[in-house]
Amino acid sequence: MQSRLRFTLACAAVLALSASAALAAPQNTPAKPHPLTHFRPLKRHPIVALSFDDLPAAGGLRPGMTRVKILTRLTRELRAAHIKGVYGNVNAVDLPGDPDCQQALRVWRAAGMNIGNHTWSHPELDKVTAASYDANIARDEPYLRQFAGKSNWHWFRYPYLEEGNTVAKHLAVRRWLHAHHYRVEEVTLNFNDDDWGDPYLRCKAQHNAAAIAWLKASYMQNAAEYIQLEREEQQVAFGHEIPNVLLLHGTEFTTLMLPRLITLLQQQGFRFSTVPRVERNHAYRYDPAVALPGGGSFTTMVLLARHRTVYLPPHPPEPLDKLNSICGGE
Ligand SMILES: [Zn+2]
Repeated sequence: MQSRLRFTLACAAVLALSASAALAAPQNTPAKPHPLTHFRPLKRHPIVALSFDDLPAAGGLRPGMTRVKILTRLTRELRAAHIKGVYGNVNAVDLPGDPDCQQALRVWRAAGMNIGNHTWSHPELDKVTAASYDANIARDEPYLRQFAGKSNWHWFRYPYLEEGNTVAKHLAVRRWLHAHHYRVEEVTLNFNDDDWGDPYLRCKAQHNAAAIAWLKASYMQNAAEYIQLEREEQQVAFGHEIPNVLLLHGTEFTTLMLPRLITLLQQQGFRFSTVPRVERNHAYRYDPAVALPGGGSFTTMVLLARHRTVYLPPHPPEPLDKLNSICGGE
């Protein structure tokens, strides 16, 4: 549990950096400003595939809660909204010797959801060699094979969205993935949903209704804001909006908020699809082979590769300090 908590905090911090990096001008590239004055919506409705990382054990677990309960509710909410074939990306390090985690993954699969590879133990590619990273991906495979049945588990989600802090490392891992028949599960929408996970557990333990109300409101505000900004960024990166993949985590809080998040997406005109369908779009054939320490979304990497800079309108930042301190945090 200790190491899981440390991992979650590290994950939150790095993802926060990724999100701000996603909205900042890439460094070390010639500036080619593309101010966004008019948002041009798609002629057709926007599309999004939901995806959930860190299964089966995303974030902390409060007393009385189980991974089975969380994933049972999560799949129930998805099915209630007629959303099927969602990819949950697995770190199998949580499975051996943990019947709750094993059963939770069975629940996920029995509900018609898919699983993909998120490495065995969630390393940061920036901090390890390509060879040890590849070995960590391979170590996940026997468990994916065991739980996936005949479904396609050859989708890979980079932890922390770190695809390489050098071009050589980026290309080396890409070569390994290609040789082992993986597609990369890119991300275009990310609002750091997991940063709300452990604050919720603390506030819930304190029965702090006012703090929980703030967590719910700020989660939705942050989601609405980042999804809009990231859609605007795509217009510079690709010339138009592309079908999206939204990064979420299988935490208790995101499970609690999922009906509201689905409603928000529906109100914005989104229709739901799956990762394999979304990534049939030709935009995803492009490999932005760039060095991006700290990682970032697919759009951020494409902007960097194409030497483009986005100037976005002023927007409130994610309330990370308050999240980290609320209900007796750090
Ligand atoms: Zn992760």
